[in-house]
Amino acid sequence: LSTWSAVPAGPPDPILGITEAFKADKDARKINLGVGAYRDENGKPYVLNAVKKAEEFLTAAKNDKEYLPITGLADFTKNAAKLAYGAESKPLNENAIAITQSISGTGALRIGGAFLARHYPHSKIIYLPVPSWGNHTPIFKDSGLEVRGYRYFDKKTVGLDFNGLKEDLQNAPEGAIVLLHACAHNPTGVDPTQAQWAQISDIVKEKKLFPFFDMAYQGFASGSTTRDAFAVRHFVQEGHQIALSQSFAKNMGLYGERVGAFSLTTTNAEEKARVESQLKIIVRPMYSNPPLHGARIANTILSRPELYQEWEGEVLTMAERIISMREKLYDSLTKEHSTPGEWGHIKSQIGMFSFTGLKAEHCKALAEKAHVYMTMDGRISMAGLNGNNIEYFAQSVDAAVR
Ligand code: PMP
Repeated sequence: LSTWSAVPAGPPDPILGITEAFKADKDARKINLGVGAYRDENGKPYVLNAVKKAEEFLTAAKNDKEYLPITGLADFTKNAAKLAYGAESKPLNENAIAITQSISGTGALRIGGAFLARHYPHSKIIYLPVPSWGNHTPIFKDSGLEVRGYRYFDKKTVGLDFNGLKEDLQNAPEGAIVLLHACAHNPTGVDPTQAQWAQISDIVKEKKLFPFFDMAYQGFASGSTTRDAFAVRHFVQEGHQIALSQSFAKNMGLYGERVGAFSLTTTNAEEKARVESQLKIIVRPMYSNPPLHGARIANTILSRPELYQEWEGEVLTMAERIISMREKLYDSLTKEHSTPGEWGHIKSQIGMFSFTGLKAEHCKALAEKAHVYMTMDGRISMAGLNGNNIEYFAQSVDAAVR
């Protein structure tokens, strides 16, 4: 008998499983709208010019491959913090941001979860929006936190359930942790307005909740990294201490390089040093120290003005292509096909994803009859659409819902 004979087969990952089905499909019209990775207008993965230039620069520099410190490349984390918090940020300028490089956004959330489980003095309960990115629940459970939900999405309006959100945060136990998607909420594409963020900040303050921001799409929502950092910067300005997870997977297209950062705002340099020493104690037994190459790429872009400028332009181009796909899809469904249903949310939603409102049976029909793959909750990655496939997609959606 094998040692592992009693290990049950786990379910396939709901998102990465879609890619498997897509790969196995031989139909030329097939479309993968499952995974959240940017595709160019030809449906191909896109390596940013700023990244290519940074890599050329790094090749020429002939760097060695020594280990990074436990908290990663110091210049990178300094520049990542500046990107998120803004050059004018008070904790940044007071050297009061404890930060560590991480294995992309997932790793940042995991370090954050572990740190809060070990050191956050008030509660071990974390509230996630319903719905949230599918990996949030296992990340925080595995970190040792108790996961609960707050209302976020209103199926009726296909928009934000702001009253439900406020009520649930107001009724949360004092001191609980609340996870907030900084921008481009995944999977819904629905973000609070700036005025709503201000109200959320007030409730978080009043109830002494602890805000943990997940910022996986800075720049991807609006095309501006500054605009997309509004919520994070507003909370910091309002005097909140925050936790922040950053990912450079989407905004620099560095998916597989695994570039990210986790940070906490503290009150002064001495406290920051204490907190950072504990971040090191969490990271060291997990993976010792982070990978080098991606952090070097991101840091080269963030620290060289000409590359930074080119990168900002490319972020805008990616965001604008996605926005133009929203408009085309909306027009095609409503004007060309007169598809039954209300589709305004396709245009008003933000970021990589759209929560289409398609039901599981429609999604299933789309996969089986039209070779169009998406998650069964009706989420589509807008970046998977392009001038060549959008008409076929609209037609297929129309056929599926009739
Ligand atoms: N948070 C959210 C909301 C995400 O959508 C993602 C990517 N799908 C991540 C975090 C982390 O991604 P990564 O680990 O690739 O940076």
